Amino acid sequence: MKQYYVVLRSVLRSRPDLRRCLSRCRHCRIFFLTHPRNAGRSNLQCPFGCREAHRKQRSTERSVAYYTTAEGKAKKQMQNGKRVRSGVRADANPPVNGALEFHAGMVGYVAMVASLIEGRRVSEEEIFRMLVRVMRQHSMARRRRMDYVVAQLHKHGP
Ligand SMILES: [Zn+2]
Repeated sequence: MKQYYVVLRSVLRSRPDLRRCLSRCRHCRIFFLTHPRNAGRSNLQCPFGCREAHRKQRSTERSVAYYTTAEGKAKKQMQNGKRVRSGVRADANPPVNGALEFHAGMVGYVAMVASLIEGRRVSEEEIFRMLVRVMRQHSMARRRRMDYVVAQLHKHGP
């Protein structure tokens, strides 16, 4: 968290024009950069989970409201029946990217901030590729460390 604010401060020091984009999450009070079109709004939520949680809650409320109507109830019953018959649960879809999963909201946020800082459009695709690269480097470094530890153990072992 401290590191996050160090980065945020240094970004704002080098790009004072982005200071107007500085927002504070109305939920968890963390500071973050928002898109210039939202600059100055005080009811924003951070992209580190609060926005996502809020969206989820809204959609739950919507579906609860829908399923309490008669039409919704009938449909829900049909869906439940179908689900039992085929034995497939709606949330049983495995993650597509296997071990490399990133919070979609986070990737979007990083892409937006990178675009602001670099003054060009940085796509989520580009950020995703960069994250994958960084993660690979991390796991490579970890493996090298492990190899070293194992080698040391062999050298000094019985
Ligand atoms: Zn928040």
